[in-house]
Amino acid sequence: MNASLPLNTASAVDCAPVLKERGQREVFCGLTGIIWLHRKMQDAFFLVVGSRTCAHLIQSAAGVMIFAEPRFATAIMEERDLAGLADANEELDRIVDQLLERRPEIKSLFLVGSCPSEVIKLDLSKAAQRLGAKHGRQVRILNYSGSGIETTFTEGEDACLASLVPVMPELPASAPPNLIIVGSLPDIVEDQFLRLFAELGIENVASLPERSVADLPGVGPNTRFLLAQPFLGDTAQRLKERGAQRLDALFPFGVQGTTDWLKVAATEFGIDLQHFEEITLPYQLRADRAIAHQRKRLEGKSIFFMPDSQLEVPLARFLANELGMVLTEVGSPYLHRTHLAQELAVLPAGVILSEGQDVDRQLDRVRATKPDLTVCGLGLANPLESEGLCTKWAIELVFSPIHGFDQAGDLAELFARPLRRRDVLRV
Ligand code: SF4
Repeated sequence: MNASLPLNTASAVDCAPVLKERGQREVFCGLTGIIWLHRKMQDAFFLVVGSRTCAHLIQSAAGVMIFAEPRFATAIMEERDLAGLADANEELDRIVDQLLERRPEIKSLFLVGSCPSEVIKLDLSKAAQRLGAKHGRQVRILNYSGSGIETTFTEGEDACLASLVPVMPELPASAPPNLIIVGSLPDIVEDQFLRLFAELGIENVASLPERSVADLPGVGPNTRFLLAQPFLGDTAQRLKERGAQRLDALFPFGVQGTTDWLKVAATEFGIDLQHFEEITLPYQLRADRAIAHQRKRLEGKSIFFMPDSQLEVPLARFLANELGMVLTEVGSPYLHRTHLAQELAVLPAGVILSEGQDVDRQLDRVRATKPDLTVCGLGLANPLESEGLCTKWAIELVFSPIHGFDQAGDLAELFARPLRRRDVLRV
């Protein structure tokens, strides 16, 4: 059943209605996050406790050869485990023992739950405690769920980062202020942000996750954090519970978002506004020039976001405000009203927002409105293309470096490319 509800925020984006949908979903599960998380955290290993389907998903999505010694694997649950005929905990302990003996370079091991492990109620938090007591000197053992039951694929990163928060070192109230960038960013983007914060004069900046999980940043009452991704609700909540404060800003996509994200931190850390402008203006102008190339192609074109990555709202804001695209519908699996309040407030008036998924109804609306571009999951792209609609894979936006000033042109190009390809094919 679908219902139209008002947005419950003070600034209220003019109370734009949100279409709530609870139907069939077409999204990847949280295991997908392992693909970018294992590349980021170079001393971590991800052991999925799941089925052959789970193994197949990450193996094919990551495209890794078996002999390449990847830093993820699946402890495959057989029918005996699922039927309760074998002690899954004993089997898991044996596999972890073997793994740590063979791969002594692993410093953090994530036990990752899946639909099958949840169905048989295998308690991976107890397993992590038990195995931590045994191997704690050598390796930190954590757990989270990447199951596809009621989640979308970016929630895997949220669950993983949330599992790290309790083991972050405690900073006392007397510690100097520190800033944490929260969200897994490609190294090149993370380095750009760290350089920019240093130029602005903000010291003591760290990332969650760091490239080495062994080097987690400290957290305490003087910690401020900026979310780099809109899908990190649980991680943000856990950081708040440890005394840190979230800085409320637009997400760092495009010139508008990146400028606001940096400015909010600069204000919090007492940086002079004129100094902020002097430092950031050259970056803003360069990004503006890069975006202008794509504006000619994208201006006035309509775009429909199917709910997929939870990046939809900030990306829609960027495309509408900086590239002049027309938002036909902006769907997101989950709208975090508090974290997205700033974003929603600067969306064009009257935009149609939808939360959750009912894939058949959404496809009907795509067909009825015939947008110039539809952003959707892999499974929907080919059928829509075959009907003559132009599509963009949502997952590509998670795998690509798209944050910050220097990537703003590339981000616009990701949306311009399918339209250009369609024009070429039509000729
Ligand atoms: S966790 Fe669930 S949805 Fe994901 S691959 Fe395994 S069985 Fe499929």
